[in-house]
Amino acid sequence: SLVLGIETTCDETAAAVIERGSDGRGRILSNIVHSQIEDHAPYGGVVPEIAARAHVDLLDGVIARAMRQADVGFVQLSGVAAAAGPGLIGGVIVGLTTAKAITLVHGTPLIAVNHLEAHALTPRLTHALPFPYCLFLASGGHTQIVAVLGVGDYVRLGTTVDDAMGEAFDKVAKMLGLPYPGGPQVERAAETGDPERFAFPRPMLGRPDANFSLSGLKTAVRNEASRLEPLERQDVCDLCAGFQAAVLETIIDRLDVGLTQFAERFGPPQALVAAGGVASNQAIRGALQTAADRAGTEFIIPPPKLCTDNGAMIAWAGAERLALGLTDPLETAPRARWLLDANVTTPAKFAN
Ligand code: ATP
Ligand code: MG
Ligand code: FE
Repeated sequence: SLVLGIETTCDETAAAVIERGSDGRGRILSNIVHSQIEDHAPYGGVVPEIAARAHVDLLDGVIARAMRQADVGFVQLSGVAAAAGPGLIGGVIVGLTTAKAITLVHGTPLIAVNHLEAHALTPRLTHALPFPYCLFLASGGHTQIVAVLGVGDYVRLGTTVDDAMGEAFDKVAKMLGLPYPGGPQVERAAETGDPERFAFPRPMLGRPDANFSLSGLKTAVRNEASRLEPLERQDVCDLCAGFQAAVLETIIDRLDVGLTQFAERFGPPQALVAAGGVASNQAIRGALQTAADRAGTEFIIPPPKLCTDNGAMIAWAGAERLALGLTDPLETAPRARWLLDANVTTPAKFAN
C-alpha cells in the first residue's frame, strides 16, 4: 500500500510517501524535510507562532515535492497519515487539516498518528524487527524509555522529570555562548575537552525507577561557568565534555534499570532502538551500545535522517496502522498533549 505522511508538530515541515509490501517491509519513495532552524535560530529556540505560520507557507510545496519525487498521484494513495500530536498545536492543526482536506477530496482513509508512536515504529521501517523491543527516545521535547509491544501497544518505563535531553544540550550551549541548536555544538566542543576537569553530578544514578532528571546537571554547569567568567575556549570545551560525560553515565545507568524492568515484565527485548535528534550524538550512540551489550541485546539505530523529525516515520506508522484497519474519522482533533501509553507509570505532572 502507498501512504503519504505529513509531519508538522515542531519545526520541521515534512512529507513523505512510503510503500508497505504485503510482507510487511517498507520502502521510502520520497522523504522531504524542510527544517525551519534558520527561522528560529535568532530567538535561540522554536517560536510556536513563527513555526505555525511557516508550516502554512511551506506545507503545500513540501507535499507536492514528495508526491512528485515518488511519482505518485493522490488517487493512488491507500491512506493519508498526519501527526495529530503531541506538539505545538498551531503546527499540528496545519498538518492534520491538510491531511483531512486531501482525504475528503479523494475519499482516502485518514490515519491520525501519534508523533511518538511514529518515532517508536521507525526501526521497523529500516529493519526486519519483530516486537517487543525497547525504545530510547531523546529529542528536544522528549526523553523516554518505552516498551514497544505492538502497534498501538506501548508502556512507558521511564521519562524525564524536568528537562528533555535535547533541551538540556540546547540550554547548556546557550549559557556557554554556542549557537542554536546546541546539541551538535556541545558534542563538537566536548571532543577537545577534558571530561574530568569538573565533577558534575550524575543525576538519578542508582535510583530504582528508570526516570531521568537533567535540570540539576544543567544548573551545575551554569554555576561552574559563571564562576569561571570570562570563559576561555578551553573552558567551554571542558564544560561541554564534563556535561556530556555525566549524560553518558546517566543514560547507561537509566537504561540498565529500564532494560531490566523490560525483561522482568515482558521477557527479553528483541533489541534496544534509539530515536530523536540526540541519538545522532556519536558518544551517546556509544553509551547506548554499551547499555545494550550489558543487557545482552542488539542495538539498532535508524539513519540520522530518520531519527530526527521526518515525514517517512509518520507515513510508516500510518501504514502499520492501516494494515490493522486502524483509520480515523474526519472529526479527529489535533492534540497538543498525547501520551503514548495508557499505563502511565509516572505522575501526570511529569508527563512528557
Ligand atoms: P520532538 O521532541 O517533538 O520530537 P524536536 O524537533 O525537538 O522534536 P529532534 O528534531 O528529533 O526533536 O531533535 C532536536 C534536538 O536534538 C535538539 O534539542 C538538538 O539540540 C538535539 N541534538 C541534535 N544533534 C545532537 C547532538 N549531536 N548531540 C546532542 N543533542 C543533539
Ligand atoms: Mg526538530
Ligand atoms: Fe520528534
